[in-house]
Amino acid sequence: MKSNLADKTQSEPSSGRVYLVGAGPGDPELLTLRAVRLLEKADVVVYDHLVSSAVLDFVPIASERIYAGKRRNEHTMRQEQINALLVRLAKEGKQVVRLKGGDPFIFGRGGEELQTLAAHGIPFEVVPGVTAASGVSCYSGIPLTHRDHAQGCVFVTGHLKDGTADLDWPSLVRRNQTVVIYMGLGGLPEICRQLVIHGASPTLPVAVVQDGTIATQRVVTGTLTDIAHRVSAAGLRSPSLTVIGEVVRLHDALSWFGIRQSNSALETR
Ligand code: SAH
Repeated sequence: MKSNLADKTQSEPSSGRVYLVGAGPGDPELLTLRAVRLLEKADVVVYDHLVSSAVLDFVPIASERIYAGKRRNEHTMRQEQINALLVRLAKEGKQVVRLKGGDPFIFGRGGEELQTLAAHGIPFEVVPGVTAASGVSCYSGIPLTHRDHAQGCVFVTGHLKDGTADLDWPSLVRRNQTVVIYMGLGGLPEICRQLVIHGASPTLPVAVVQDGTIATQRVVTGTLTDIAHRVSAAGLRSPSLTVIGEVVRLHDALSWFGIRQSNSALETR
């Protein structure tokens, strides 16, 4: 076994262990030091489609990489198969990095994977990552809170079940609050419609950000009335994050990403 990861954490150098690691939203500069150290020493890395190739560059050539997929409507491995795979690899004595986009405990099903490991008595560790809301907010110049615009922020999934998003609409239309919707691209027209039905202003600003934090990032802004049309006209695709609230007005003044890419002397990569 080439890895000595376990030496650093607990005294079981010969037994397998799973590290559930957040890969951040795409820009490899946003990885934590802990994530990089673990990637460099893993025996095997099991990763999702949201993990960027620049992040995978930290995995040594000699380490095994297993793609677990999970694109919308194209589940390469079912969740139960992924859970079983992690158990098997750890039981073989391997140091396994389970790499997930963003933060593993925010819409990542990381909790479910750990429950299976716990049930099998397999030791694990969790490494937080920059979640898409945070990465997108910073790289698109849309603060999630702001003294003048929002005193709170909620994260929800916009994934539709049977054509409707089963969300607590009245709680989402509160004033002075920012709503961040993960997995909300397909359901965007329905989400906007429901928010207006439940009392939100039809002119409330909305931003949809594709590929946040990487070179292909695109930001489309509009209102609850026209954002769905604008997004489809622009041809935005997954992964895209939706930010709803007055804070979106700050985007024009605070956007910086892209400018940095061409001008900054600090860019070393
Ligand atoms: N655990 C992840 C979220 C997984 S759910 C995290 O903490 O970020 C997948 C959803 O995250 C996507 O549908 C999209 O809404 C959002 N997402 C992830 N990465 C993104 C990115 N780079 N840009 C925009 N949205 C992103």
